[in-house]
Parts: sequence; structure tokens; C-alpha cells
Amino acid sequence: MYVILMGPQGSGKGTQAARLAPRLGLTLVATGDLFRAAIAAQTDLGRRIKAIYDRGDLVPDEITVGLVEEKLDDIRRERALGEGVAGALFDGFPRTRAQADALDAALAARGERLDRVVQIEVPLETLITRLTGRRVCKRCGTVYNVESNPPRQPGVCDRCGGAVVQRDDDKPGPIKERLDLYFAETAPLLADYRDRGLVEQVDGDQPIERVTEEIARAVERRSAGQKVEG
Ligand code: AMP
Repeated sequence: MYVILMGPQGSGKGTQAARLAPRLGLTLVATGDLFRAAIAAQTDLGRRIKAIYDRGDLVPDEITVGLVEEKLDDIRRERALGEGVAGALFDGFPRTRAQADALDAALAARGERLDRVVQIEVPLETLITRLTGRRVCKRCGTVYNVESNPPRQPGVCDRCGGAVVQRDDDKPGPIKERLDLYFAETAPLLADYRDRGLVEQVDGDQPIERVTEEIARAVERRSAGQKVEG
């Protein structure tokens, strides 16, 4: 099964994807996490994309699609070895028409197809408050919020003791850039997915556990291509 979680930055996509992937038995494919790991490890790729990432711009499609194709091949290998992997949950991908087309082609080339697109909806003011307050542990990636979910000791991760910091792209300039990009480039992809009967909407302005339940139900409810009203 191949599922996309779609929603603007701050909609809780990353949090939900991390909770849902193990529950659904899917491999998490979060392009933002892959890029952060490459930057932190200072690989060739990390060095090439750091400036783009820090501005909140999109990494070029060829690079992004190449990374996702590698992940799809990993999943195929794991499945061939009978390792119980059922597919992928995409977080932060696709973000452009070219990426969406490349994903369809990459899945088709591997005898697979997209099964669901879950759209997480959150009002704009809530997105901005969440993003400006977001902090992450540099070491283990745990996500906090200065307002709604601060670490017990300011700046120190509850889970691993690592430094809790603001992401470079969670500063006001990049936040605006990233939200503008989402509404210009990514949100329009939903129209096509909706025409294909793949979209389920979930209200993301509710407690985390509740949103997880609703997404899990939305994924389990539908078989591919089936159109259900309401
Ligand atoms: P995220 O963690 O999903 O908010 O992504 C953080 C940053 O990684 C974005 O602002 C982009 O610079 C880059 N990025 C993540 N996913 C993609 C993608 N699908 N296409 C292009 N750039 C991406």
C-alpha cells in the first residue's frame, strides 16, 4: 500500500507520519528528514542542498525524485526478502506536479500504484503559531512546541538530553516562503488526486491522538479508486 500524507507545513504531517507508519506497517519516506540527515552528515548531497534548504526553497525535482526511487527500491528488496514491509507512507513528497508524475511513473514501473492521499486541514493562523513555536531535538528529532508541548527543561530533550533548537527554516522569512510554496505548488495536486478518487480529508486542528485515529481509519476505510461521499 502506498499512501501520501498531504498538508501544509505545521499541519502535523511529520508527527502523524511517524506515529502512523509503524501502525500501518509502512516504511516512512519523509523527504525533509532525508535532506536533514544528508545536511547533518555533510555528504555531497547535503552540501549541495544546504543553502536551498535554509532559504525554505524546494530542492530540485531530479534530486528529490532520485532519493525517493532509491527508497522504493529498498522497499522492494525488503519485500522480496519477506521482511513484512507493506509499502510506503510519504511525508513531504510529492510537492510539485513533476514529482507527482514521477511518483506515478516510479510506482507503475515497480508494478505498484498509489492507494490513498490523506489531506490534513488546519486553519492558517494555527499553522503560523505552530511553526514559529516549533523546536526539535538536534540529536533524536523529537518535536516540541514552546507553547503547547515544551520540553520539561527549556532547550533540553526529555527523551535523549540533546539540544532542543529551532530549525533554520522555522524562522519567519522561510516560514512564509514555505507556506506560499505549498499553496502555489503542492495544494493544486489535490485536484487531480481527488478526480482519481484517492483523497480523504482529516481535520488536523484536534488533539494528536484523535488525528492519528482519523487518519488510520481513513486509510483503512477505502479501497483504491473507490469514490465515497462525505
Ligand atoms: P519538511 O521537513 O517536509 O518541511 O521539508 C524541509 C525542507 O526540505 C523543505 O523546505 C525543502 O527545502 C526540502 N524538501 C523536503 N521535501 C521536499 C520535496 N518533496 N521537494 C523539494 N524539496 C523538499
